[in-house]
Amino acid sequence: MKFVYDFTEGNKDLKDLLGGKGANLAEMTNLGLPVPPGFTITTEACKVYLDSGEEPVALRDEVSAHLVALEEKMGKKLGQADNPLLVSVRSGAKFSMPGMMDTVLNIGLSDKSVQGLAQQAGDERFAWDSYRRLIQMFGKTVLGVEGDLFEDALDAAKAAKKVTVDTELEAADLKKLVTKFKKIVKTEAGRDFPQDPREQMDLAIKAVFDSWNGDRAKLYRRQERIPHDLGTAVNVCSMVFGNLGPDSGTGVAFTRDPASGHQGVYGDYLQNAQGEDVVAGIRNTVPLAELEQIDKKSYDQLMQIMETLENHYKDLCDIEFTIERGQLWMLQTRVGKRTAGAAFRIATQLVDQGLIDEAEALQRVTGAQLAQLMFPKFDEEAKVEQVGRGIAASPGAAVGKAVFDSYTAVKWSRSGEKVILVRRETNPDDLDGMIAAEGILTSRGGKTSHAAVVARGMGKTCVCGAEELEVDTKRRRMTVPGGHVVEEGDLISIDGSSGKVYLGEVPVVPSPVVEYFEGRMHAGANDADELVEAVHRIMAFADRKRSLRVRANADNAEDALRARRFGAQGIGLCRTEHMFLGDRRELVERLILADTEAEREESLKELLPLQKQDFVELFSAMDGLPVTIRLLDPPLHEFLPDITELSVRVALAESRQEPHENELRLLQAVHRLHEQNPMLGLRGVRLGLVIPGLFTMQVRAIAEAAAERRNAKADPRAEIMIPLVGTVQELEIVREEADQVVAEVEAATGTQLKLAIGTMIELPRAALTAGQIAEAAEFFSFGTNDLTQTVWGFSRDDVEASFFTAYLEKGIFGVSPFETIDKDGVGSLVKLAAEAGRATRPDLKLGVCGEHGGDPESVHFFHEVGLDYVSCSPFRIPVARLEAGRAAS
Ligand code: ADP
Ligand code: MG
Ligand code: MG
Repeated sequence: MKFVYDFTEGNKDLKDLLGGKGANLAEMTNLGLPVPPGFTITTEACKVYLDSGEEPVALRDEVSAHLVALEEKMGKKLGQADNPLLVSVRSGAKFSMPGMMDTVLNIGLSDKSVQGLAQQAGDERFAWDSYRRLIQMFGKTVLGVEGDLFEDALDAAKAAKKVTVDTELEAADLKKLVTKFKKIVKTEAGRDFPQDPREQMDLAIKAVFDSWNGDRAKLYRRQERIPHDLGTAVNVCSMVFGNLGPDSGTGVAFTRDPASGHQGVYGDYLQNAQGEDVVAGIRNTVPLAELEQIDKKSYDQLMQIMETLENHYKDLCDIEFTIERGQLWMLQTRVGKRTAGAAFRIATQLVDQGLIDEAEALQRVTGAQLAQLMFPKFDEEAKVEQVGRGIAASPGAAVGKAVFDSYTAVKWSRSGEKVILVRRETNPDDLDGMIAAEGILTSRGGKTSHAAVVARGMGKTCVCGAEELEVDTKRRRMTVPGGHVVEEGDLISIDGSSGKVYLGEVPVVPSPVVEYFEGRMHAGANDADELVEAVHRIMAFADRKRSLRVRANADNAEDALRARRFGAQGIGLCRTEHMFLGDRRELVERLILADTEAEREESLKELLPLQKQDFVELFSAMDGLPVTIRLLDPPLHEFLPDITELSVRVALAESRQEPHENELRLLQAVHRLHEQNPMLGLRGVRLGLVIPGLFTMQVRAIAEAAAERRNAKADPRAEIMIPLVGTVQELEIVREEADQVVAEVEAATGTQLKLAIGTMIELPRAALTAGQIAEAAEFFSFGTNDLTQTVWGFSRDDVEASFFTAYLEKGIFGVSPFETIDKDGVGSLVKLAAEAGRATRPDLKLGVCGEHGGDPESVHFFHEVGLDYVSCSPFRIPVARLEAGRAAS
């Protein structure tokens, strides 16, 4: 195996092997751009080292060979006393990872070669400045010396000289500083700073390898779901010097604005400095545009190169460069990070420039980015006082009074207060408080912490691991950096998309993208309009490409209309139980309590016109589009009063000797219907089979509503869906009754209704016998929430808050199977049932209702297994449309 690649040997597609930095340095080299020569040690070498604790045997020789070649090319030897070749040793994994070790610059300098460098450059100050930087960086990152010790010594040197910036230190000062730095190394690391240049290089390479398993790097990988076994590459790159005087400098640039996507000159430049100074903020940088005055030739060349890079990568690139005495050098490039809004703008801009096509544009944006753009945001114009920043665990903008325990959260929210639950970390006992709160803020824990997982499951704003905040739950307060104390009841604002925490109430503005989907905003000229325009076009690309249709889960006309505005092509799930609540509860109660046939029929008769009216409204809202109506699904006790509350009422009445016959009867019914495990009890089709008249009443309401619309020359397209079917026999019985009712209504109204009848596939047995079930079903809708519960044996309400955090941390799954479909388990049942169903009935319509229908990764899976549509909540429809388009392109 080859462990070392010269920059001339690699290319941008070798990121696995050469890391992002190495692959792109090679790409630029081969584009003929001015890159200082060098070579890359592969991630494979790192993996061998990490596995065995030793560098691969062949590595040393390969590095030597490449070093010799480099020395020949440069005409000088590493650390050579009179004219030293210096190199940087730079880490660079496949994914850029802040928190990994930093780069060590100026390797090859020693007490001897520093003199040679001074002579060669004709600049003693420069040579000693470079040397002190080497000892500082090497000491910190390779030998593990506390970085502050060097910083303090540097500050002391500046103070002694009464100057404020490092460039004002002269050669003599820097010489003294080098002595001081070497002393620090000796005391802290227990060894001398190595004078042998090759030893410096080898130690630095090993340190980069080791940094892969540093705590910060590991934490970052866990949070970002980057596999732990990738390893990092190491780049050895000959040094160029930005600290050689005012005609030298270093900078960073973007080929276009990463916030707006606009083309232009974006970046920062710092004269007489080495790379890390720009980031460290030692001195103030100037805007890149000023480089034109400072060094026109380099500036023009840089602009030229940026254009070359954009055309080559066909995307926004960010770059690092250095100018050494008027000569421009490229030190890094990569496809740059961007905001969600910029991703949409840039994708459309690149299409307009003819650089990419529509299909490629769809790959440049994600549903997650679109979702981000749809959350309400804090007003950017507002004056804010940011006091901390944590991990953006669950998006949204939440404002409320700080409370520090679950009990208070519930109490206050009951009395109408908006609260933010602030905890060090949450645990299952906090669940009620989390539900009651507008948002959740914790000072500990990452993206898989309890708070993060549960909040995401609930769609609630959450910032976690805001470590600067000192949360004192006992005293109900938190201290923010600077010492200010937030007491219980003080207003705070948290941004779950950026992780930022603010004092006070930050005003919230609606998302322009939602305003657009709602039809309240149209393209124009201002900034928000530009974004809307881009989203509009990308959505059109997606709609053209996708084969999956997107429907909405909606139970009333209002939601249905919104869903339509958001692009829904029908309703995939109307939950009729939502029509049984409110003032109708009493009717349902009577139905459940009915002792006689007559009583039951009476209450059903009263429910019928109400249900019918619901459907008439729904069909009008969705005229011409399919509307799938699920017959009653949940256990009946959900319509009855809470058992404890009712018991108390009865006991109270008894003790006061008040009449309580009705309550008593109700209580008996509640006891009768009480179930140990309602998720698997009397619900779904089982209800329809044991409560005479219930399902037929619903079917009649649907049929009569459809007939009414049809007679009004409208186009209702009802589909009746039977939930929780486990065997075809259940479906056949319900179907027979339903067909009869439909025929009656058709005869009575003189219409032809063409109602489709189908079933949910949400039990493993249904999936396994889908071929039989399809005999009696015209469509399947996969209820992946229940299917996940029953396939895993998870009761969702119980598992998410109790042990999912542990499961995520142990890596049993990377994401909750309720968030993204478990392809291997639940997914294979979906696939199997889809195939078996279609084998029986080739024109069987297949869809998904349930939260997975709006989850990007799941949408791709449903596309792959060839479903006809996904159905999701109205708000997720644009995301599903976009991802369906991405899946198809
Ligand atoms: P990071 O990944 O943290 O940006 P880099 O390896 O890119 O680390 O290096 C840190 C800084 O040092 C950057 O500003 C880079 O441009 C600069 N740098 C790296 N190698 C060299 C070199 N050979 N000559 C001059 N500057 C360099
Ligand atoms: Mg860099
Ligand atoms: Mg279900």
